[in-house]
Amino acid sequence: MKEYLCECERCGKEVPTTLAGYARMVLRNSARIDGKARALCPECAESLRAWFLAGAAEGRE
Ligand SMILES: [Zn+2]
Repeated sequence: MKEYLCECERCGKEVPTTLAGYARMVLRNSARIDGKARALCPECAESLRAWFLAGAAEGRE
């Protein structure tokens, strides 16, 4: 399967991924940010999710 490089929008790290993996990652990581497709490396996706969860727990809008 062909591999693509996508650049993490947070830290700029290039993440090798397959097209299927990229599509899945974008869908999983982007939906709750602002509706735009964003590519994030696994580390940033994880920390961003933790950040969102923390914000939700504090009742932030
Ligand atoms: Zn990153």
